[in-house]
Amino acid sequence: MIQLKQAAKVYELEAGSFTALKETDLHIAKGEFVAIMGPSGSGKSTLLQLLGGLDLPTRGSIAIDGVELSGLSEKERTLFRRTKVGFVFQNYQLLPMMTVAENIALSLAANKTPKSEIDVTVSRLIREVNLDGKAASFPSQLSGGQQQRVAIARALAMKPSLILADEPTGNLDRKNGQDVLQLLSRLNKEEGMTVVMVTHDRDAAQTADRIITMVDGEVAKEREGAGAR
Ligand code: ADP
Ligand code: ADP
Repeated sequence: MIQLKQAAKVYELEAGSFTALKETDLHIAKGEFVAIMGPSGSGKSTLLQLLGGLDLPTRGSIAIDGVELSGLSEKERTLFRRTKVGFVFQNYQLLPMMTVAENIALSLAANKTPKSEIDVTVSRLIREVNLDGKAASFPSQLSGGQQQRVAIARALAMKPSLILADEPTGNLDRKNGQDVLQLLSRLNKEEGMTVVMVTHDRDAAQTADRIITMVDGEVAKEREGAGAR
């Protein structure tokens, strides 16, 4: 599914260059749930951005489903992101002036999906993330956990094969965090979605099949998570 070969990311700064990701070989299988841990500044977000085609490696290669991301044109890479990858962020990134249903429908509407089809899909997604009755609510009327589940529903709208989550439980209390983790786990186990999640929370990381720890721009440690058992 995901194959990194000697992929590295160097940022050019006025003061010189900075290597955020050192040459990395990494394979993530289809249907795997991987957690990425590590101290702040260790390269977790950089890795996630590369996996999602938000940025390209400076050296080496990243292939997703056999597609070499560096080989795509800017337009093709945007299309790849929209259709293959669902992004979930720590701060939900919902549009405040839009309802739950409208937030979830955004990518479908941008993709010129017929209205009747959008309605069916949005209703199904709202049910799937357990937000029945909230379609017409605005994000500010929801708890953090509910908002994050809207964000996950939005990420699922285009039927991506890969979910990339950056600290999805970072702003949530224990109970809401567990609901979000359970949802990601169910999508992974029952729908076969590949999930890569950055987290600072050791317990959250245990939801995964495999836990990767990054230190100073490289994978320092890999171990099995409880999700694998
Ligand atoms: P983490 O997610 O583990 O906190 P990041 O991947 O965000 O780490 O960052 C790794 C290092 O790369 C940090 O030192 C950060 O300051 C640097 N970095 C990240 N993005 C950029 C960027 N766009 N330009 C310059 N430096 C960056
Ligand atoms: P977090 O610790 O929550 O993961 P980060 O420090 O990784 O947050 O930063 C979040 C975003 O800011 C990332 O997209 C990263 O690439 C970018 N970023 C981080 N450090 C820098 C930097 N020095 N210059 C520019 N962008 C940066």
